[in-house]
Amino acid sequence: METTLVIIKPSAVQRELIGLIVNRFEKKGLVIAGMKMMQLTEEILREHYAHLVDRPFFHFLLKSMMATPVVVMAVKGVNAVEVVRGMTGATNSRKAVPGTIRGDYGMSGQENIVHASDSPENAVIELARFFRPEEIFDYMPLVTPALYEPDELKM
Ligand code: UDP
Ligand code: MG
Repeated sequence: METTLVIIKPSAVQRELIGLIVNRFEKKGLVIAGMKMMQLTEEILREHYAHLVDRPFFHFLLKSMMATPVVVMAVKGVNAVEVVRGMTGATNSRKAVPGTIRGDYGMSGQENIVHASDSPENAVIELARFFRPEEIFDYMPLVTPALYEPDELKM
């Protein structure tokens, strides 16, 4: 099982989409292993978006990500990183295909509703950035045997 980080961004919080987005992950069969609301700071965003600090739009990205509190989630399942990235869709919401979260709810490249970790390695780093270990819970819902074939549960 993998666990990945999802951030419900201010663009979704402003538009009252929190419940709907959480519900999409639950309905897919992913486990919400951790979830909390927090106000992001410039410090944590400079770390989280280190690959973008030199881009001309970075100050807009900072402002956008601090506009409201966000909801951070630890989302668990077999191949969760790839599954969640697939559900998230392309970075530019106008290009994200319908059926993805960005494709269904966004119109912007920046105000693109959710963040999702892009690799298992980054998921580990990003989860540690936003959660203390005791905030991520090790449980499996009762529906689990209906979601996976037994061998898949060893993945
Ligand atoms: N972003 C932006 N303009 C760009 C590229 C990215 O505003 O040209 C923002 C956008 O909110 C994106 C975030 O920076 O989600 C992180 O960019 P990344 O390339 O990591 O895309 P993601 O992994 O979120 O699809
Ligand atoms: Mg990224």
